[in-house]
Amino acid sequence: MASHERDFEYMPHLVNAIRQADVVRLQDTLVSMAILSAEARRLIHAKLLADNPATAASQTKNRPIAKYEICEQCHKKYNVAGNGQKICEFHPGRLMADYGADVWADHDEDCHGIIDTDEMRRNLPQGFMWQCCRGDGKARGCKTATHMTKERPAKRFRP
Ligand SMILES: [Zn+2]
Ligand SMILES: [Zn+2]
Repeated sequence: MASHERDFEYMPHLVNAIRQADVVRLQDTLVSMAILSAEARRLIHAKLLADNPATAASQTKNRPIAKYEICEQCHKKYNVAGNGQKICEFHPGRLMADYGADVWADHDEDCHGIIDTDEMRRNLPQGFMWQCCRGDGKARGCKTATHMTKERPAKRFRP
């Protein structure tokens, strides 16, 4: 494919950019790649876990260190092992119905359904407003932090 050839021509620029990037940026990039692609996960696992004698020794065969959790703040899946940086964007406030939004102009709760529900939040986010920043339901998180998971009994998460 032509786009592949272009990709390879572009490689020297990419390699250059990678060599000049700072560590935190590289870590963020690797975490994103690991989330997006199973191939990237395998490669990163092989490079970072298997080649490292200290990690390999403390690791049992069937239990890789990388562990995915759903973040309480942004509700995205993240790798617990790569959670050092501020990569979580979330809203600390509540998502409230914005009855003045355009999207509700012709909305009659009696025939179109109650506005203040989780389903409406999913389907018509533009009709809601974040308490914290007054952005609409589609606005990017106004706070940045590390991902967080509540402690819960490990049993519940066993397959
Ligand atoms: Zn907010
Ligand atoms: Zn998060």
